[in-house]
Amino acid sequence: MPKVVVAGAGLSGLAAAISAREAGANVVLLEKGSRADVGGNAAFSGGLFLFRYRGPDDLTSITQDFEPGMRADRIEAPPYTSEVYAAELMAMSDGRADPRLVETLAEKSLDTVRWLAAKGVRFTFNRTVGAHVRNGVLHIPPGQILTSTGEGMSRGFEVIEPLLEYAERIGVEIRWSTPLIDLVRENGRVTGAAVGDGVVPGDAVVIASGGFQADRELRRRHLGPDWENVTLRGTRLATGDGIIAGLRAGADEAGTWSSCHSAAVDPSMPSPQRSAASPPFPLHGFWLGVLVNREGERFVDEGPGPWVKNYSKMGKAIMRQPGHEAFEIFDQRTAERVADQFAGAAVPVTAPTVAELAERIGVPPGKLVRTIEEFNRACRDDGSTTGCTPPKSQWATPLDHPPFVAYHAVAGLTFTFGGVRIDPDGRALGGDGVPVPGLYAAGEATGGLFYGDYPGGAALMRAAVFGRVAGYTAATEAEHHHG
Ligand SMILES: Cc1cc2nc3c(=O)[nH]c(=O)nc-3n(C[C@H](O)[C@H](O)[C@H](O)COP(=O)(O)OP(=O)(O)OC[C@H]3O[C@@H](n4cnc5c(N)ncnc54)[C@H](O)[C@@H]3O)c2cc1C
Repeated sequence: MPKVVVAGAGLSGLAAAISAREAGANVVLLEKGSRADVGGNAAFSGGLFLFRYRGPDDLTSITQDFEPGMRADRIEAPPYTSEVYAAELMAMSDGRADPRLVETLAEKSLDTVRWLAAKGVRFTFNRTVGAHVRNGVLHIPPGQILTSTGEGMSRGFEVIEPLLEYAERIGVEIRWSTPLIDLVRENGRVTGAAVGDGVVPGDAVVIASGGFQADRELRRRHLGPDWENVTLRGTRLATGDGIIAGLRAGADEAGTWSSCHSAAVDPSMPSPQRSAASPPFPLHGFWLGVLVNREGERFVDEGPGPWVKNYSKMGKAIMRQPGHEAFEIFDQRTAERVADQFAGAAVPVTAPTVAELAERIGVPPGKLVRTIEEFNRACRDDGSTTGCTPPKSQWATPLDHPPFVAYHAVAGLTFTFGGVRIDPDGRALGGDGVPVPGLYAAGEATGGLFYGDYPGGAALMRAAVFGRVAGYTAATEAEHHHG
């Protein structure tokens, strides 16, 4: 029987291990962390999956679960096709994404969500990403997403736990606290993984060990010095090990190494240390108010479109501000909704006037008052603005219902975009575009799909789609090689 070694027990690694095993291989899954670290970034995630669908039947065939209050007599869900999905990925990467990877992700997304559901992952409709019930009809905006079941940021665990159980049940051998240190090669072919106490031989190795966001030196070198001390939103173990080993073994690099996914987060919470720990809460309510820096100035369009397609820009915008910090400001029109849906345990500062709020958060009061007055004057009936810079394109309403509230926000780094180049079947490619024999990669360890930005939900989907294909390709090609 061929043997496949997978490095990393996150979503891409579990998907690769399961699909390689189902394709008939013996599978050893190496995980750097202990059992408590299972899941990598996915364990911290919000569990949002972006996938194509033709209409309500595609959705209800995956999920029978509804959040409380989301049940309806009928579901209104205009299609979200692979063409629209692909176009969105291309547009958000400024045309730089590899079209073959884009097409694969979009095309295989629905089937892969079904595959996850068949392995025990449960999905539900979710109101924070726009699903809502009106007059007995559940409306799903196109391209808005199902999430795994569970509460808030624990949803990620609900993706990982069933997959781990399933992998163990079908005989994947998991070695905890066993990081891949390097790849072993013979005659140009990858023949195993070097670990602390020797070599784990294999006919194929799948790198699924995540990005390099948790390595301070790699952050400094590729993202810039501002990012050296950033708060992490997820795993502390994604230090680029597999990417570096892959490049040393002859794989080419791909993607923007200088960019990343980064959201606004509550600075009072540190980077998490264990998968079971809560990540710093993402402050996704910015589109309901305004975002100002410590000088009291607005610096970004808070409402360019749905938050789920824009939140990954906010961390980067905050990082460019003085002190690398900002404040999300709301009034009583929106404060309750923000607290209810978008702020988790973050505690806001409240004050009866804008000037007092400014004093309490350490922002020049005169300046903040002028900024809010200018913003209020600029708000138009259609929710856009005229005469304020930068504009707020949508959901602009005057901040004039005291008391006012402010949430302190810093950048939280989710993951990096640069990694190993792969083809649509998950083979790692060398500089000449030819596969490195025996080497495969998936998920955040790869580059080529995400550049400046991407639609929320596409990262878990990428990990699942490419983990699954890489595991399958590795097993079938290993069989050929072995056999
Ligand atoms: C807070 C947060 C919220 C998110 N929410 C969403 C969301 O709702 N929707 C969405 O689409 N995406 C979301 N993401 C992104 C998504 O979770 C990730 O892109 C995806 O889970 C990455 O999977 P992966 O398997 O590639 O990497 P990871 O999940 O990071 O897995 C890598 C694994 O490899 C292990 N490892 C590292 N080095 C080694 C080594 N040398 N040897 C062996 N193992 C190693 C790590 O310990 C880890 O377990 C979120 C991320 C975070 C942090």
